[in-house]
Amino acid sequence: MKEKKKKILKKHGYAFTGDESGVKLCHWVREKLIRGRSCYKEDFYGIDCHRCLQMSPALDICNQSCLFCWRYQDYGKREEVTFDEPKKIVLKSIQAQKELVSGFRGDERCSEKMWKEARDPNQVAISLSGEPTMYPHLSDLIKEYEKRGMNTFLVTNGTRPHIIENLDHLPSQMYVTLAAPNKKIFKKLCVPNSEDLWNDIKRSLELLPSLDTRTVVRHTLVDGWNIGWEDEYARLIEKAEPDFVETKGYVFVGDSRTRMSIKNMPSHETIRGFAKKENELLGLKILAEKEESRVVLLGRSKDKMELAR
Ligand code: SF4
Ligand code: SF4
Repeated sequence: MKEKKKKILKKHGYAFTGDESGVKLCHWVREKLIRGRSCYKEDFYGIDCHRCLQMSPALDICNQSCLFCWRYQDYGKREEVTFDEPKKIVLKSIQAQKELVSGFRGDERCSEKMWKEARDPNQVAISLSGEPTMYPHLSDLIKEYEKRGMNTFLVTNGTRPHIIENLDHLPSQMYVTLAAPNKKIFKKLCVPNSEDLWNDIKRSLELLPSLDTRTVVRHTLVDGWNIGWEDEYARLIEKAEPDFVETKGYVFVGDSRTRMSIKNMPSHETIRGFAKKENELLGLKILAEKEESRVVLLGRSKDKMELAR
């Protein structure tokens, strides 16, 4: 990655773990450490949010330019990329996380116990900036994290089904984002670099039932853009048979503020209304919700919610 771009990302709070990979402290780690507030994934799946490491092995490399993306986007044509080695990324990312939380020691709002736990991450969200399936050693990366006793959440935009299909080591939880009910909205909202990517997303959804891991379809719902069309979404989700569907409202933060307005943030009531309609079509249950995060979780049974460690 060019030095100029590295400088911009460092200003945004990223710590590099090589030339093309990096870590950033999640807002919710900070919230948990100093205010005791956790992200909805702690409430839904029982993760320890203050022990979560948020990283990307393919920083700022993506085949979409979603208008709602809150990350820095500069996905223009790149020269050849030399990706970092999985083991190096894992070791450096854990080290970087330790350094990122070091400043909380001594803050009277953060207990020593929690600070120590935060220095020993047991959860990784492979979902920072960029599309992780662009990284050629994804299975090995997941394996390296799991070798260290960490749960792995992988979030993909679903545009690279051949990578999902060929993973020889699956994450603890596999997310596919479904941010559009049809190709027309997909092209306008997700700004793909090829319109064929819509068919690839459909193919990824069809692959989910064959994966021997927990699967989640996640909607990022943007008011005025992709809310409604519940029947079209339901037809796509039916094929994916996911363990869970997360209906999540867009949040007006980060770089998305240059492309969206605060009016694009749906209320929790809107998310709930959407979730209820989708639920009826899919025959699922509302398993949980968190109003402050504007998210409703759909699924078949609460039994599967807690992650096995
Ligand atoms: S699961 Fe996601 S929101 Fe929660 S702490 Fe990890 S990166 Fe942040
Ligand atoms: S697919 Fe993800 S990383 Fe890529 S532009 Fe969209 S939200 Fe951002």
